[in-house]
Amino acid sequence: MVQPNTDFMMPNVNFFGPNVIKGIGERAKLLGMKKPLIVTDSFLRNLENGPVKQTEASLNAAGVDYAFYDNVEPNPKVRNVTEGKQAYKDANCDSIISVGGGSSHDCAKGIGIVLTNGDDITKLAGIDTLKNPLPPLLAVNTTAGTASEITRHAVITNEETKLKFVVISWRNVPLVSFNDPLLMLDVPKGLTAATGMDALTHSVESYVSENRNDITDAQAIQAIKLISEYLPQAVADGHNVEARTKMAEASLLAGMAFNNANLGYVHAMAHQLGGQYDAPHGECCAALMPTVEKWNMIASPQRFADIARFMGENIDGLNVWEAGQKAIDALQRMSDLVGIRTVKQLGAKPEDFELLAKNALLDGNAGPNPRKGTQADIVELFKEAYNK
Ligand code: NAD
Repeated sequence: MVQPNTDFMMPNVNFFGPNVIKGIGERAKLLGMKKPLIVTDSFLRNLENGPVKQTEASLNAAGVDYAFYDNVEPNPKVRNVTEGKQAYKDANCDSIISVGGGSSHDCAKGIGIVLTNGDDITKLAGIDTLKNPLPPLLAVNTTAGTASEITRHAVITNEETKLKFVVISWRNVPLVSFNDPLLMLDVPKGLTAATGMDALTHSVESYVSENRNDITDAQAIQAIKLISEYLPQAVADGHNVEARTKMAEASLLAGMAFNNANLGYVHAMAHQLGGQYDAPHGECCAALMPTVEKWNMIASPQRFADIARFMGENIDGLNVWEAGQKAIDALQRMSDLVGIRTVKQLGAKPEDFELLAKNALLDGNAGPNPRKGTQADIVELFKEAYNK
């Protein structure tokens, strides 16, 4: 019996639905923001009528001044955090608005962290390491997704060591977030697939996590159902507003689940692939998930049988192991259907697996995985996923 974790923390405000972005200027004004730093990348900044232009329009209408840091890289690096802090100081900013996917939000959190908690963010990896609050942070989310716009996690890559590390603290949670599915209509197919599989990994890892509770279960279950139904549709037609809206909702639910239940070995191992090879995070998760969850099954077989049912599999007449295997097959089928690459295709090299396995066990997400492994076990999992 898993010890119930009965605390539940979800302290921010999230505006959800078509056109909620139009309210960001008034919200910034209400919060007394005089000059936020908009943290984004140059592609999004220049996208005609895109999320940044719409944020600017709303800030302009409300008479709120702003400055930019628009050099966020995917898998944001320590150098992005350092540059962003400098941009904040140079422009005399008093607050931050992140616009984009997980990379923009995490970089914005990182900038806030070094502004108030000391220059060296690599020293703040871990749980509840932040002593001081960040400057006010609003998050405009444009992928479905990481859910970083509502979570307490900031994932940053140390470009010198090629290690992805996580700063986990309630001080990281943005004050207000915006999930406007209309901002997601032009997300390309590959990114739609990768981010959707990231959200599926969040919900599956939360559902089998040792830190789960009834509230996180409810969120994870609904997220798994929505993603199973709507991710293929969002990949097939990015302008399907219903599919985009349901995927944004699923991402949010999965984020609420893992913000409390935490994750497991899929994320701990995916961070190693992302750090070492700069591979897209959602694809790293998806390429590892069937292998890792099959290995996890003996720790919690009924949970995997449940997942098969939530994913729409017919498990009538099957025993718990056969039903659990259906979940693993469904996860693999979903990855194949939306075009996820294999661990090998993502650039992994078997000679690195010992180091990646060692670091995966040190990752902040490894703790609540339902089955405990040694470094040798993790090497085997990397090998198995690589040889698919
Ligand atoms: P991303 O933020 O890295 O964005 C990828 C690319 O998509 C960028 O080049 C961006 O310009 C483009 N893009 C974003 N929105 C777009 C839109 N609406 N239309 C067109 N293009 C768009 O991708 P992501 O998957 O959202 O974030 C991944 C990062 O988030 C990783 O570093 C991962 O480790 C991290 N992450 C964080 C958390 C958390 O809780 N903090 C959770 C999971 C993952």
